[in-house]
Amino acid sequence: MRFARLILYALFAATAACAGIKPAPGAEDSVAIVGATVIHPERDGAKASEPNTTIVISGRRIVAVGPSSTVAVPPKGTVIDARGKWVIPGLVDGHVHFFQSGNLYTRPDVVDFTRSVPYAKEVARNQSRLPATFKVWLASGVTSVVDIGGPFWNFEMRDTAERTSEAPRVAVAGPLISMIADPKLDLGDPPIIEIASTEAARDLVRRELARKPDYIKVWFIHRAGEDLAAQEAIVRAAGDEAHRAGVALAVHATELIVAKAALRAGADYLVHSVMDVPVDEEFIALAKKNRVLYCPTLFVIPGYQYALSNTWQPTAAEMRLADPQIVAAMGDLARIPSDLIPPTVARRIAEPGAIVPPEVAMRNLRSVANADITIVMGTDAGNIGTLHGPSVFREMTLMQQAGIPPLHVLRAATINGAQAMRREKEIGTIAPGRLADLVVLDADPATSVDNASRVYRVIKDGRVYDPDELIRSIR
Ligand SMILES: [Zn+2]
Repeated sequence: MRFARLILYALFAATAACAGIKPAPGAEDSVAIVGATVIHPERDGAKASEPNTTIVISGRRIVAVGPSSTVAVPPKGTVIDARGKWVIPGLVDGHVHFFQSGNLYTRPDVVDFTRSVPYAKEVARNQSRLPATFKVWLASGVTSVVDIGGPFWNFEMRDTAERTSEAPRVAVAGPLISMIADPKLDLGDPPIIEIASTEAARDLVRRELARKPDYIKVWFIHRAGEDLAAQEAIVRAAGDEAHRAGVALAVHATELIVAKAALRAGADYLVHSVMDVPVDEEFIALAKKNRVLYCPTLFVIPGYQYALSNTWQPTAAEMRLADPQIVAAMGDLARIPSDLIPPTVARRIAEPGAIVPPEVAMRNLRSVANADITIVMGTDAGNIGTLHGPSVFREMTLMQQAGIPPLHVLRAATINGAQAMRREKEIGTIAPGRLADLVVLDADPATSVDNASRVYRVIKDGRVYDPDELIRSIR
């Protein structure tokens, strides 16, 4: 029997070799996850869940997936006994910002606490804390993230992540091409750059293209009375320049007329919900024409509301998996002297009001999903109240509350996220030949996505991590 298993393993290895996959350099390099229920979010119906399955990883890649009765476990190497556990592809957060930390001091343009913590100090913290922030992502089972806009040092951040094994894969955009200036965020390498003409847009895109971005990102802010057509022309110029270099165009556009203008201008990725009014048929048709990816970011606004009314409370997942420094800092409002608290925040603390998920955005998510537009899970992590790492579970829970079935939420967070990473041939599914990015869970995420937070082990690039050890190492 054992001999037969070894032959089977050899066959799988041979198949892998035929597909151009490097065979294992040594059996010690292998990992076998044995007896798990494997969830394939890209599949429909009963096929999405395969009980009693064994996954074999060799080096960085998956080499075998099949019934535990037929897939041989390599004689040496790591074995994870996953009976009674579930395995999903590594999660992807399609919308994060590493230049922001999630604390109160990270967006002085929104709420100014610079008299408590100068913005330069906050950004320096975020840069020096990157190795810890990378670990926080991995601990939450997030093996890939899209940083959809930040200073030019974002490109160095991506290089650092690539060199670091305890880090997610990172796709990146540089500074945002913006309709408005944002001087409070300008420390000499601003994350947001005001562009007033199509020529200036093309120039900035070319400067960014020199750094090989994964996206060009536009911050499409349109205020009543402004010339929408002229703004659309700027977005189109940026998009054309990006597309010529084979780079995708991501656009922040949160009102229906602006989102439609963004789509007409060539947007490939809408990084937020349409939040003002229900989407209409014209929007759906434009979105389908562009094969756009749609990232709802449902939690980011409630995140600000909780944090700025001093009612933010960590979830169980955040207690376990977030950066402990940031969780501690979320209580700072109670400690900051009252004369340093901006009046808008003081009013919110006095009268927090009900904090509810954005109703139109929830409804639009259902409409967009029903129209078969590709949904990508993304948090906008780094914004005030939306912490790197475990905020993915807040986001997925809201998507589920909006009426998206758990399996489809997982799809948005895996195979669709892989599209947002522009790496759908390598990540996002569990199959031989794919990179070994996986999460082993203690509970079934297909019955409720809340269970995706029950992380037992995380595997990235074939390496196995214990989430609690990752967090202990950054305390
Ligand atoms: Zn964002």
